[in-house]
Amino acid sequence: MARTRPVLSHVVSTHTLEGGGFPVTRPFPTQVLMQADPFLLLDHLGPVRWAPGEAIGAPEHPHRGFEAVTYLLQGRMCHEDSFGHKGELNPGDVQWMTAGSGLVHSELPHPEFLAQGGVMEGFQIWVNLPASHKMAPPKYQEVPNQKLAKFEKPSCKVTLIAGELDGHKGPVETVRPVLCAHLELEAGADLELPLPPVLTLYLYVIHGQGRFGEQTAPAQAGDFLFFGAGETVHLEAQDGPVSVLLLGGEPLQEPVARYGPFVMNTKAEVLQAFADFEAGKMGRIGT
Ligand code: FE
Repeated sequence: MARTRPVLSHVVSTHTLEGGGFPVTRPFPTQVLMQADPFLLLDHLGPVRWAPGEAIGAPEHPHRGFEAVTYLLQGRMCHEDSFGHKGELNPGDVQWMTAGSGLVHSELPHPEFLAQGGVMEGFQIWVNLPASHKMAPPKYQEVPNQKLAKFEKPSCKVTLIAGELDGHKGPVETVRPVLCAHLELEAGADLELPLPPVLTLYLYVIHGQGRFGEQTAPAQAGDFLFFGAGETVHLEAQDGPVSVLLLGGEPLQEPVARYGPFVMNTKAEVLQAFADFEAGKMGRIGT
């Protein structure tokens, strides 16, 4: 008989400002929780309503040593980088960027969105790369909403970005197995989903409240849960609809040396990343 995963721990998010000053709900990294191996950062951006001309993004900055994922729920963004890549994100679109050896990019509101104003909401997720892949060439996977794997369960809509869930597979390719899925449960939903037992499983509550895991532990918007071993995960909506982000991965269990936009294995590698950035080795946007 399949074991359903128990909830092992429960973290409450902090609220902070990121990039040029947009509000984020952040379960990690914080003083309490530095990472959820192999994930290094989870930021729920907004939802925030910007007046015309006021939307803020993250202007030009570098990255090295991990993957930066953007999943937009509402609003419109423009991303551009020092490798000549330029892309647009609309609601439901994903950009899975492997920073690898390093690049400089900007993540800004689309000019039309900036002019008109509106609601912006999304996720930024940092996925660590194993030491063997930290200096791999930068790579992009841009997946528009309609190309994400979507399926329905009773009272639940699933959007699968990466990894395997309930016999389905997400379109994003990853170096090591990673699960990234958005689940929208209607009021009264109560379901059990099979997923690969090899993954360490985490859950972030985006909106609403629910009960999760073997012990049907209550959690609400902004809560981040760690699960123990098992072959299935149990999710229930409570007092209305609830939406969650399911994240899973194989922990790297490697040393993490991080400072700002660089995540390496040693302090010397981080200092080298700063030196390489300052020497222009990660390029400049528009050159
Ligand atoms: Fe960035």
